[in-house]
Parts: sequence; structure tokens; C-alpha cells
Amino acid sequence: MMNIPFLSLKDVTALHGDEINAAVKRVVNSGWYLQGKENERFEADYAKFIGSKYAIGCANGLDALIWIFRAYKELGVMQDGDEVIVPANTYIATILAITENNLKPILVEPKLNTLEIDDDKIEERITSRTKAICIVHLYGRNAYTDRIGALCKKYNLKLVEDNAQAHGCKHTDGRITGSIGDAAGHSFYPGKNLGALGDGGAVTTNDDELAITVRTLANYGSSKKYVFKYTGRNSRLDEIQAAVLDVKLKYLVEDNAHRKAVANYYYDHIKHPLISLPDRLLDSQNVYHLFPILCEKRDTLHYYLEKNGVGTIIHYPIAPHKQECYKEWNGMTLPITEYIADHELSLPIGPTITLDEVDYVVDLINRFE
Ligand SMILES: *Cc1c(COP(=O)(O)O)cnc(C)c1O
Repeated sequence: MMNIPFLSLKDVTALHGDEINAAVKRVVNSGWYLQGKENERFEADYAKFIGSKYAIGCANGLDALIWIFRAYKELGVMQDGDEVIVPANTYIATILAITENNLKPILVEPKLNTLEIDDDKIEERITSRTKAICIVHLYGRNAYTDRIGALCKKYNLKLVEDNAQAHGCKHTDGRITGSIGDAAGHSFYPGKNLGALGDGGAVTTNDDELAITVRTLANYGSSKKYVFKYTGRNSRLDEIQAAVLDVKLKYLVEDNAHRKAVANYYYDHIKHPLISLPDRLLDSQNVYHLFPILCEKRDTLHYYLEKNGVGTIIHYPIAPHKQECYKEWNGMTLPITEYIADHELSLPIGPTITLDEVDYVVDLINRFE
């Protein structure tokens, strides 16, 4: 029996281990741990990679999203109670960033064949209070559509991208996710495609005012030492993480290519009457942060794979509107989102899993009864 973890972070780090260790050592020995050259270099390299004018490092992906909405409020673009359209099927951080700012999330169902926000259902939810559409490139799949772009233009809405799961993903026109909207939040949580050795995040944007406001907010609200413009917080990316991320950024395209090979193997070989896979996108439009499948007997499959040495994870078992923290929505019915929560299972994928291991997973799945 093979033993295949869902994701081995130890192996992921070891893949570029020598360079990562050298980078960490360099920072440790430099005596400079915050707001230094490592952040400067990584921010410049990441902005270039994404294709945006600015990248601003911050403490984590949730904060990145929080700062975007907070900055729009400080700039007078949004006010308490304004509405933000957001997919109902997302990791809860997307929604927390909205409610944290006293804005109102308007939950829109996904399409079952893409698992991403259904652009047929957005326009009917736009009101005079709508100020933004927040799309999430969930599972590493491009969620942007030209129709979403057209709606933002038509109703003068900001487009915010949650790019936590999609570093290096592209739209059909070649633009990289994180450069398509007015601003994007990125997470460098260790398990993400571009992961740090701890927490990290960034905001990308082409907007000069937004960039300086985000940077100020994430630095206690100060852009000049001991002068405070906003009641901000301390939410910075540290120098060690920036140095690690700059090493890993060099290999991101290569690491994503490996994920694509794994995903293509799954797409080509999984054949089971109880299992369906989301639409297969062009290779450029999916960086396969996760490989979600839908199964009629999900929990049995989960247990069966585990018993046979294969780690899988559910993303996510309880939809945001069914969480205790959002009691006011618990009575809502969002059938597609709930269907996904009840049937989704993510198979092992990452930059280090071998095709032999993937073949073992496929073989087990195809023999599942
Ligand atoms: C990981 C994630 C976040 C939050 O990022 P953290 O760095 O963990 O705070 C936000 N949105 C999505 C879709 C994520 O997957």
C-alpha cells in the first residue's frame, strides 16, 4: 500500500530547500527583519509577475482583502452598509473581509460545472448600494468572465479579486489573475501555490491612491514615522517570508506545470459513475491549487481512500451561510453551494506528488464501490 498525504509541506519546501535555507540564513544574519530590501525585492518581483503596478506585502491573505475594502472606505468609494457581490461558495475569509468593514456581502450561487460564481445571477442582485463585485479564483480556476467585466463597467463597480488560490492563473486574454480587477488580495499561506513558511499576503493594484492607502493602513495607519493618518494595524510581511517567497516565485511556473500534469492525469483517467469533475479548462486558466471532485457517496469515498493510504480534504464542509458566525444567514437556502459542501472532495495535488502516486489514487478511485 502506498502512503500519499494530501500535501506534504516538508517535501514542498525541500524541493527548493537549499535556496530557501540560504535565503533565510541571509536575513537572519543581516540584522534587518522588517520593511527592508527583501520586501522591496519581493514586492517588485511579484508585481512584475502579476502584471500590476504595485504589490504591497502584508501579514496574510485575509488582511490583504480587509485592507482593500478598508482603503476604499477611507477613500470615500464605499461606506458602511454598502453591498459587495461575492460567491457563496468560497473560503470564508473572502466574506470576513467584507463584514469586517461593515459592508454587506451579497451571496451569489456558483455554477455546478465550474464551481465559480454564476455570472448569470449577478445582475439581478445589483442595487443602488452595490459598490463592488468580489470574485474568487477558487481551487486555482480563473473565475473572471468578460461578462463580469462588462457588469462592473455598466454599473460603475469596483472589481476585487481574491487570488489566494490562483497565483499564476490566466484569463483567456492572457492577463494574469490579480491584474484583471481594480485590486486583488493574495495569500501566501504555506499550502497555497506560492506559500511562505508561515503567514503572508499581498495586495496588487494599478491604483496609486489605493496602493498608498493599503500600505499606510497595514503599517499602523502611518506613512511617516510617528504620524498617524488612519487607525490602522500592524499587518506587515516580514523579511524572512519575503526572502523565501522571492525564491519560490522563481519556480512558481514550473511548480504549477507539475500540478497541471497531475490534473491532466486525473482528468484523463478518472472514470466512475458516481463521480463528476468540474469542466476542464485550458491549461493556462487553471493552476490547480486544489483538484476538486464531486461524489454522490463522498464521505464513504473519503474514508475508503484514507483506509488505503490516500489523504483527501473537503473544501469546504460547511458553507459560509451555514456557519455560526453568520447566524442571520443560517435560514437561507443556496442549493448549489450546499450541494458542493456535501459532495466535494479534493484529491492530492501539488508540486511534489509523483505520477506513480497519482496513478495509484486513480486506480483506487476507479475501483471504488
Ligand atoms: C487562504 C485563503 C484566504 C485567506 O488567506 P490567509 O493567508 O490564510 O489569511 C482568502 N481567500 C481564499 C479563497 C483562501 O483560500
